[in-house]
Amino acid sequence: MSDPNPDVSRVRQLLGLRRAALKERHEGVERDLARSNDPLAADSSDRAIQLENDETLLAIDEAARQEIAAIDEALQRLDMGLYGICKRCNGRIEAARLLLVPQAVVCAGCLA
Ligand SMILES: [Zn+2]
Repeated sequence: MSDPNPDVSRVRQLLGLRRAALKERHEGVERDLARSNDPLAADSSDRAIQLENDETLLAIDEAARQEIAAIDEALQRLDMGLYGICKRCNGRIEAARLLLVPQAVVCAGCLA
């Protein structure tokens, strides 16, 4: 697929790469979690560490899943020709913000 606007195809590529990296992280975490479902250690402090690790993994996983969802939404808006337009106020999302957060779908004003 080719976009007439070079900026849009660059963003699409950027988001695609970011999404792939997140997906990889998500799958890695799932693997780690599956392994940590091994029987819990008999020692209670070992057990506490195991459970704490699981919690950290789950938090990382949750963050990755949320970001993937955000990227999917940004890609969807990109397909609709709405990339860079705030979905709340329909204003332009600041260029600096998009540079920092290419998957942003609301402007800084609406985020506040
Ligand atoms: Zn806005």
